[in-house]
Amino acid sequence: MEWNSPVAMLKGVGEQREKRLQKLGIFTVEDLLTHYPREYKDRSQIIKISELIPEEECTFLGQIKEEGENSRRGRLTFTRLKVYDETGAVGILWYNQPYLKNALKIGEWYLFTGKLQKKYGRKEVISPECERIGENFAGGRIIPVYPSVAGLSQKILRGLMEEALQQMGHGLQESLPLWLRKNCCLAERNFAIENIHFPKTEQGFYDARRRLVFEELFLLQLALFSLKQTLEERGEGAILKKKKALQAGEDLLPFSLTNAQKKVLKEIEKDMTSGKIMNRLIQGDVGSGKTAVALIAAYWTIQNGYQAAIMAPTEVLASQHYETFREIFAPIGIEVVLLTGSLTAKAQREALEKVASGEGKMIIGTHAVIRKGVEFHNLGLAVTDEQHRFGVRQRSLLAEKGENVHTLVMTATPIPRTLALILYGDLDISIIDELPPERQEIDTLAVDSRYHQRIYAFLQKQVKGGRQVYVICPMIEESEKLEVQSVLLYTEELQKELPDCRVACVHGKLKGKEKQDVMERFAAGEIDVLVSTTVIEVGINVPNATVMLIENAERFGLAQLHQLRGRVGRGSEKSYCILVSDSKTKVAKARLKTMTESGDGFVISEKDLKLRGPGEFFGIRQHGLPELKIADLTRDMAILKEAQTAAEALMKKDKWLTAKEHELLKEQIDGFLEGKRLEM
Ligand code: ADP
Ligand code: MG
Repeated sequence: MEWNSPVAMLKGVGEQREKRLQKLGIFTVEDLLTHYPREYKDRSQIIKISELIPEEECTFLGQIKEEGENSRRGRLTFTRLKVYDETGAVGILWYNQPYLKNALKIGEWYLFTGKLQKKYGRKEVISPECERIGENFAGGRIIPVYPSVAGLSQKILRGLMEEALQQMGHGLQESLPLWLRKNCCLAERNFAIENIHFPKTEQGFYDARRRLVFEELFLLQLALFSLKQTLEERGEGAILKKKKALQAGEDLLPFSLTNAQKKVLKEIEKDMTSGKIMNRLIQGDVGSGKTAVALIAAYWTIQNGYQAAIMAPTEVLASQHYETFREIFAPIGIEVVLLTGSLTAKAQREALEKVASGEGKMIIGTHAVIRKGVEFHNLGLAVTDEQHRFGVRQRSLLAEKGENVHTLVMTATPIPRTLALILYGDLDISIIDELPPERQEIDTLAVDSRYHQRIYAFLQKQVKGGRQVYVICPMIEESEKLEVQSVLLYTEELQKELPDCRVACVHGKLKGKEKQDVMERFAAGEIDVLVSTTVIEVGINVPNATVMLIENAERFGLAQLHQLRGRVGRGSEKSYCILVSDSKTKVAKARLKTMTESGDGFVISEKDLKLRGPGEFFGIRQHGLPELKIADLTRDMAILKEAQTAAEALMKKDKWLTAKEHELLKEQIDGFLEGKRLEM
């Protein structure tokens, strides 16, 4: 048995079970053993039957002395059994598992865990978990509880873990070098894996978890460093000249830049004249004007004889950028090319030719721009907008379309600064921490559905005044088909409520072209009220829209609500965000309250961290990084810092990880980046 053997090699894994395991992302023994428990149950405290506490989960040993009995009550089958120890006896009751009557053998001892409750007039332990005690029973233990799917019980998973551990027989190769384990007090690998599943002591568990969390974050750090290093080694970056063009670029805009935008442009200027390849993240709240910064950088690049490209996650957003750039670039003779998946074959061919010949200077597109077969003439600047929608790998693919391409990635996903520094370890960070002037604060209200009539009246009034409205009606249905139906239905109803308004809707099932068509009509003011699922979440800019109405607001996380709200308040008119929710849960209420109290994405992201329990952090997946299996960025900040320091130390020691003792680490990093990457 090897670490990477298929899981089907384990005893007890047949075809069906293999399929179910695959649903959990488990293909190999490694996947299985790194499928960590979600929580633990303490079965180490074993009490006597006479000590059972009513209504409290207890673990006790009991012997079967006589056969149990099955009886029926309506549609229920009851299986009743009496178990004994030296202090007394207690009744056990199971529902609908008649086979248990014969499964438990007379004379044998079993370990039970359950609650003593009074039901049907008797005090019994109801539906306890039950485990036969073997000869070498060494006392109760701490039991792992795993994330699972239907058909894979905890008992099965637990059994498979035990089997895999036994097969591996402490034979896991250590991946962390000894000096590091010593310096950072980290447990050995076999110990860690064994104790994370079946902790022998509390201390053992903490040591195991610390080691595994450390390892994961350490690998993440190393992976990010190695990305950065590969970039740096790629050679020298083009040194841009003609600094005057930067000012000329600024003059092309119909507004003057905010100080924050200017500051970021200075940082870009420094990068692009330094001889190094720029690799910079621009973080700025929604509406902070990241596009303008990208536009000036692109203009400067083009004036230096190179091409510039922007990649956006959706067609709608790409065409919006296309319009913005064309409006400014076309009059001065800079050709802007749009490259998306929905172009006709002919248009596509023409676009590709322009990109390859260099006639097209400014290229704007979706994922289509990183496809094979897209050849640039001389790409100098690659911009990725809303980068959290792309994987780490995808954004580097765009840069690989040229030699020594400068890279800018832009994101509006608010994230606490401390985390950003670490998660974006391969990037330098610029922050636009100021909104353009004369932006009005958005009034945010949280109400319940009794307010609908008043809301409709308000929408009518806004539309009469010439404004436009977004309505978000989130995915409530399980399937996409039902979801579309419900959006269509909602739209129909809304049209009835707002007879004087032009109501239309966009949803995930529309083709790119159709979606774009609706969006364009909305942007042109031909639609007053736009109903949608979350497709407009990213980047859309219609300054005349002043109301964002979000139905079932409890279904969105804070980060998303904030993004959605950022679609309004982009013009000079007063804007509103109305959050409708009937949810009574504490978290939902706290979230909505946060929204009404703050408009600052960074404040909101800090709150988001606190409101979500550990493990629910919105973060890492949304940032296009590999998924973390055990580390929890809200809880493990301290270990994260340690891991970062250690990663730096290692890179100093052995930059390319060529030493023998780092071999396994190197392999793991490659796996980390390649195999488990999440494409968003
Ligand atoms: P985001 O950072 O969310 O991508 P955008 O780049 O779409 O934001 O900008 C939002 C709006 O603000 C656009 O209409 C843009 O023209 C406008 N804008 C950007 N910078 C300024 C500025 N310095 N002064 C006034 N308006 C600006
Ligand atoms: Mg944007």
